[in-house]
Amino acid sequence: MAAEIHSRPQSSRPILLNKIEGHQDTVNAAVIILREDGVVTISEDRTIRVWLKRDSGQYWPSIFHTVSAPCSAISYNSDSKRIFIGQDNGAIVEFLVAEDFNKMTYVKTYPAHQNRVSAIVFSPETEWIISTGHDKYLSWICTRSGCLQGRHCFSAWASCLQYDVETQHAFVGDYSGQITLLKLEQNTCSIISTLKGHEGSIGALWWDPIHRLLFSGASDHSVIMWDIGGRKGRTLLLQGHHDKVQALYYVQLTRQLISCAADGGIVVWNMDVQREEAPQWQESDSCQNCNQPFFWNLKQMWDTKSLGLRQHHCRKCGKAICGKCSCKRSTYPIMGFEFQVRVCDDCFTTIKDEDRTSLATFHEGKHSIAHMHLDITRGLMVTCGSDRIVKIWDMTPVIGCSLATGFSSH
Ligand SMILES: [Zn+2]
Ligand SMILES: [Zn+2]
Repeated sequence: MAAEIHSRPQSSRPILLNKIEGHQDTVNAAVIILREDGVVTISEDRTIRVWLKRDSGQYWPSIFHTVSAPCSAISYNSDSKRIFIGQDNGAIVEFLVAEDFNKMTYVKTYPAHQNRVSAIVFSPETEWIISTGHDKYLSWICTRSGCLQGRHCFSAWASCLQYDVETQHAFVGDYSGQITLLKLEQNTCSIISTLKGHEGSIGALWWDPIHRLLFSGASDHSVIMWDIGGRKGRTLLLQGHHDKVQALYYVQLTRQLISCAADGGIVVWNMDVQREEAPQWQESDSCQNCNQPFFWNLKQMWDTKSLGLRQHHCRKCGKAICGKCSCKRSTYPIMGFEFQVRVCDDCFTTIKDEDRTSLATFHEGKHSIAHMHLDITRGLMVTCGSDRIVKIWDMTPVIGCSLATGFSSH
């Protein structure tokens, strides 16, 4: 019998290539400069730095620029070398980086928000900078006029943002755990839908415009894949982190999702398999297996003279079940449960050994990850966070060797 190999061997790990040190405070974002051995970093210490790899193999700053407030978000456009920095005071500042990366020139300040800027997307097609902030607003500003085009207020801090250039749709994640899909017009916007599934603030969003998939990561440690293109409300839950999920990247070619968490956990999910949706949890006044009443079901407790039990749910079938009928635990990767979860006795017997094969690989970044960026053409990943360190990784052992051929034209 030929064994089916779902996951890549665990020996294939990200290789740490470089460490950049020297920041005085949390590094809120780091971006790889395409076609260049360089990285742009922004920090709570109010600096914007451009680091270039020298002959020694080490990264040294070629630009070191201090601004008036902590830098909280960045959008860097490699083609035009325009850089947009969001600040803790709500302003977005634009700079133009010189061809040789040795200096950058101030261009303009955009009064985008009243409070900390959490995410920025620059859309060269419309000349818009779209941003979210802790003033609860999504705003979009025309870079030519410097004028605010439109904005939308949410009920909670807006924490992250993705934008579909072609259709002008924005996905905004917020601190209540909700994701809102909006269609942006010249001066107005309309809410298309809200996506509810997380039980904590949204820490990261990733939109894949080709497969029309949205991925979200949250402080509830989970990742959800929303099949927007499928239009059937299909969602896949991915549970494999032990901490807040703060960064996501979907590799289109290999259909792998990379997620990073605050504890440094890096998980690479194989999305090229038939996964199943986790069931909705059912409501019942008594255990759907042994029929014993739950503790709020006073009538049945009285009638049967039995003590009420705590309600639990089987993760595989969603049935409301008592503790005694669900004492077994199992992983069930096909539904995204990479850790052992509660399953009812019936379901436990149906789970075969091969069903427990992991559909993800787990790696240690060994530092707190607040932000991650991947240059898919070279398989380079950069991570940064509250330990003030920036790490550059070779991800090719993990995300497949087809990259070089698949993306050589970009
Ligand atoms: Zn029971
Ligand atoms: Zn079950």
